[in-house]
Amino acid sequence: MAFTHIFAGDPLDRADAERRDDQWIAERLADSNSRILPFWRLNPLATTGDEPKLAWQDKSALAQAAKNAVPVLLGLRDDVAHFAIDVTGGSKVPADVDGTGEENPAELFGLPDGMAFQDARGVATEISGEESGTLAHARAVVGWHQRHGFCPNCGEATRSTKGGKERICDACGAHQFPRTDPVAIMAVTDGERCLLGQTRARRTSRFYSALAGFIDQGESIEEAVRREVWEEGGIRVGDVRYHSSQPWPFPSSLMIGCIAQATSTDIRIDPGEMSDVRWVPREEVLRALEIASAPNYSLTADPGGEGVRVPGPIAIAHHIIKAWANGE
Ligand SMILES: [Zn+2]
Repeated sequence: MAFTHIFAGDPLDRADAERRDDQWIAERLADSNSRILPFWRLNPLATTGDEPKLAWQDKSALAQAAKNAVPVLLGLRDDVAHFAIDVTGGSKVPADVDGTGEENPAELFGLPDGMAFQDARGVATEISGEESGTLAHARAVVGWHQRHGFCPNCGEATRSTKGGKERICDACGAHQFPRTDPVAIMAVTDGERCLLGQTRARRTSRFYSALAGFIDQGESIEEAVRREVWEEGGIRVGDVRYHSSQPWPFPSSLMIGCIAQATSTDIRIDPGEMSDVRWVPREEVLRALEIASAPNYSLTADPGGEGVRVPGPIAIAHHIIKAWANGE
């Protein structure tokens, strides 16, 4: 299928061969043609206004980085190197320089008007699809470095190599690689109805979504689908069909979307995780999808009316539910 989810579609050549050469990376970091994307608390610098774009900077952005921050080589496009850099904690100046009571790190770094560090999830729906893919790539790796400064094997400090796609422990020789955590997410169907669940965090809303869960160790995708649906809803599942997948960099998931057929119908909810699981008729699902596709749809701004609410098009859940509802 030709569809590309938000957070997929990064167009950069990931430069696997070039990133083995530290000298080449150093030269590219010193090259004023190279583009560097700063992150503040895992939120990217982007232009403000109606059609935001990632606000790539030149090498001067490196001076603003935190002392131990690692420039991550994301890759190449048209022979231009693209990096990400974490500037969280990169300035000694108190954050509230303009006295408004709000942190505005863009001011600290002397950036021109018209750019700001923006919520990664919010801005992902406004920038181009390609840029959302680059954002997902960059955010996942920058976050991984924040959390992996020390060796899980011996506890000593580790150092970045391969342009930020590996960390090495010099004390014990262990290598660590940025991780991706697979999550199975599934539209479970029974003829003219689809199984949707509401997590406890959403229990005061009308918000429902596809069931989902991390794939366990020693488990296939199909097995994870069947286990999660049984645990959360008490429903047995037969056929499992892969639909599509979506990177989800919060912090580093890969959502694996499936459409699955139920072989039982009596729901038994796991009250520890879910406040409700229910069969929703196709007509109600189609209405909810239409509402969720409106511009500026949000879970907090309820437009009223009857029925459940489902995720908007940023999420793969929307698309697997839609694929079933449209009979694909
Ligand atoms: Zn070690």
